[in-house]
Amino acid sequence: MKIGFIGLGIMGKPMSKNLIKAGYELIVSDFNKSAVEELVALGAEVGTNPKEIAQKSDIVITMLPNSPNVKAVALGESGLIEGAHEGLIYIDMSSIAPAASQEVYKVLVEQGVEMLDAPVSGGEPKAIDGTISVMVGGKKEIFEQSKEVLEAMAGSVVHVGEIGAGNVTKLANQIIVALNIAAVSEAFVLAQKAGVNPESVFEAIRGGLAGSTVLEAKSPMMLDRNFTPGFRINLHIKDLTNALETSHEVGAPAPLTAAVLEMMYSLKADGHEFNDHSAILKHYEKLANVEVSR
Ligand code: NAD
Repeated sequence: MKIGFIGLGIMGKPMSKNLIKAGYELIVSDFNKSAVEELVALGAEVGTNPKEIAQKSDIVITMLPNSPNVKAVALGESGLIEGAHEGLIYIDMSSIAPAASQEVYKVLVEQGVEMLDAPVSGGEPKAIDGTISVMVGGKKEIFEQSKEVLEAMAGSVVHVGEIGAGNVTKLANQIIVALNIAAVSEAFVLAQKAGVNPESVFEAIRGGLAGSTVLEAKSPMMLDRNFTPGFRINLHIKDLTNALETSHEVGAPAPLTAAVLEMMYSLKADGHEFNDHSAILKHYEKLANVEVSR
């Protein structure tokens, strides 16, 4: 089976390497020449554009920043649609607006191309060791046909519904993570200002109901004042913007998401958009004029 892979960034590069490790033949592209060369050194072929990649592949995977990039690669000039052929499956693993996935699918399916939206969670370390979680929307039979390929990059692959459902699930994930980080920040600043060591608070509560994967992952970063990404604030702004757009479309108001998105815009204005999202702490520190430390 030949797989096209477009978008060899922080996530796409290690994911595509895992496909090569699993024995798949790859044809790849990215604007970043050095990422392409790394894959070529491992045996991948270079594709000139999505059209050619689609023509030569059984499955095309994209791992791109946001909806406009996906639309351009799938439907734009020399796009995947121009290389459409019988049996081609397109799997978009980027985190984009669910409505955009549905829009792209509607056009592609007319040309006989099936599509899954399959965003991921786990970040770069899990992309490297092949243990990302994949949440997949699309027809169940297309999911079954593609599962083995997805499993070569992932620790968990779950079918969650029709096309767009993968990205709805990812937005739910991003809301829970963002609000959880904001809650931890609010609590640590309270503790610091009240004269209680936030590290002691962390130790005391981590085994109770307030314990969470977010608390475990982000508290040490906050206490060390290490805001190296991880997951950048600017990417989380993109996800929460998509979450609010979707929540307004379906009529599910998301007041807490809106509040945390505004915090992120304020952090961006202060030059923190390339920090890890645990830097939401800095927003609360500014409000209370205090710095959290061990
Ligand atoms: P990235 O910016 O590192 O990579 C995107 C890549 O796409 C870049 O290398 C860029 O050159 C390439 N690209 C853009 N347009 C292209 C085109 N037309 N043709 C070829 N290449 C093109 O981003 P990333 O961190 O790898 O994230 C990708 C997606 O995964 C995003 O939607 C992000 O929200 C999501 N995601 C990221 C993480 C993370 O921790 N970084 C975790 C989970 C999900």
